[in-house]
Amino acid sequence: LPQVVIIGRPNVGKSTLFNRLVGKRLALVDDQPGVTRDRRKGLAGLASLEFEAVDTAGWEDEDEASLPGRMRAQTQVSLRDADAALFVVDSRAGLTPLDEEIGQWLRKQEVPVVLIANKAEGNSGQSGILEAYSLGLGEPIPVSAEHGEGVADLYSALFPLISDRAEQLELEAEQAAAIAADKAREAAEAGEELEEHDPTEPLSLAIVGRPNAGKSTLVNRLLGEDRLLTGPEAGITRDSIAVDWEWTDPASGEERTIKLIDTAGMRKRAKVVDKLEKLSVSDGLRAVDYAEVVVLLLDATRGLEVQDLKIASKVLEEGRALMIAINKWDIAEDASALFNGIRAALDEGLAQLRGVPLFAVSAVTGKGLDPMLSAAFKLREDWSRRVPTSALNRWFDDALAANPPPAPGGRRIKLRYITQVGTRPPRFVIFGSRLFDLPTSYERYLLNGIRRDLGFGAVPVRLTLKSPK
Ligand code: GDP
Repeated sequence: LPQVVIIGRPNVGKSTLFNRLVGKRLALVDDQPGVTRDRRKGLAGLASLEFEAVDTAGWEDEDEASLPGRMRAQTQVSLRDADAALFVVDSRAGLTPLDEEIGQWLRKQEVPVVLIANKAEGNSGQSGILEAYSLGLGEPIPVSAEHGEGVADLYSALFPLISDRAEQLELEAEQAAAIAADKAREAAEAGEELEEHDPTEPLSLAIVGRPNAGKSTLVNRLLGEDRLLTGPEAGITRDSIAVDWEWTDPASGEERTIKLIDTAGMRKRAKVVDKLEKLSVSDGLRAVDYAEVVVLLLDATRGLEVQDLKIASKVLEEGRALMIAINKWDIAEDASALFNGIRAALDEGLAQLRGVPLFAVSAVTGKGLDPMLSAAFKLREDWSRRVPTSALNRWFDDALAANPPPAPGGRRIKLRYITQVGTRPPRFVIFGSRLFDLPTSYERYLLNGIRRDLGFGAVPVRLTLKSPK
C-alpha cells in the first residue's frame, strides 16, 4: 500500500485527521525503537483510495525549545518511505514560524505534498486559509478533521498523487502472491508423504476437570492393580509422570497402549482421599502439554458450568484434541435430558466446541469407558490427519465459489491457494493478496468449512492467511 505521512506542528489536529482516515480499522503503533517510536500507522481509506496513514504525533509535550530540531528529525525519518505527505496547519490559529519552517523544508523534498488547512468547519478560518497559500505548497484544502468536512476535496487532491503508486503496489503484491502460491503448491506436492501418522503408537491421554469431577477415581479405575509406572521421562516434568497401560478394545479385540499423563498427586491422593489436598485446576492443566488427546471430565450432578467451558477453551487453544465425558452417570438424574442439554449447550455455545465428542461414563462402575477410549484413538487420527493437497484445493475452490470473498472498493480480494503445513493439530495456510481487507467473518467461514467439510469436527484447526510482501 502507498504510505501517506501526516505532518505538522503540535495541536494542528494530526491525530484527529489520522483517526478520521483510519476510522474503526485497526491502528498499529510502530514498534521501531528510537525517533520513530511514536509513529502510529493505520490502514486508511478515502472512498476507493486505500493507503497506509502514518501519524507523526507523540512529541506534543516536548520542551518548546528543542521542538523544531526534534520535529525535523522525526519528519525526515517518516518521509523516507512516504509516497505522499499531508501537511496540516491550523487555519484558525494562522501560520506560526514553526509552520513556515516545516513548509520551507517540505518544499525542498521530493515527496508530493497536500497542504491541509484544518479546523475550517463551517466557514471559519478564512484568513488562515489565505495565509497558507504563502507556504508555496499549492492550494490549501480546507478541512475539518473533527467534523469530517472537506474530505471529498482531500480525496481529489490526494488521488492523483498516489493512485498510480497504489495500482503498481497492488500489481506487485498480486504477482508475489501468485509466485508464493506456486512455490507452496510445489512444496506441498513434493512433501505429501511427510509425517504419516502411525495409529498403533501409544496414545498420550490426559484427564482434566474441576476438583471432585472424579479424575482420580477414573485414573484408578482405568489402571486397576497392574499399573506400570514409566516416568519420569524426557520432556515430562518432575511433577508429571506417564503411566503406560495396555488396553484391549472390546469392540475390535485390538490391544492398544495408552500413555496416561498423570500429574503430581493425582493417584496418591485418590488413595488417601483428603479433600483439603485437592489439586487446583491449573495443576491438572499442566498435563495437557504432554497429551495428544484430553478428556474433560464433567460431574453429572453439577452439569456444564462456566469453569468447564474455560478449561475446554484452554485445551483447544493449546491445540490438543478434546473430548468431554460426563462422569458419575450412575447417579445422574434425568440422564437423557442432561445429556441432550449438554450436547445442545456445546453445539450452540462456543463455535469451537461444536461437534466435540461427548460421552456418558461412570468412573465407579466403568460404564461407557471403552467406547470413550476407542473414540480417543479415532480423535487422534483426525488430529493427525493430512488432507491431500488436491482434495484440499477442490474444497477450497468450491468454498470460494459458494461464497466469494468480498470486494471492498469494487476490487475483489484474491485467495489463490490453500496448503496444509502441519498436523497435530492440523494447520493450514491460505495465500492471497489484499488480505488486510478480508473480514474476520470470512476467515471464520473458511475455518468452519475446513472443520465441517473435511471431517475435522471439533479438532482445533489453525488457519493462517499469507500475503507475501
Ligand atoms: P477429582 O478431584 O476429580 O480427582 O475427583 P475424585 O476422583 O477425588 O472424586 C470426587 C468424588 O466423586 C469422590 O467422592 C468419588 O468417589 C466420587 N466419584 C468419582 N467418580 C464417580 C462416579 O462415577 N460415580 C459416583 N457415584 N461417584 C464418583
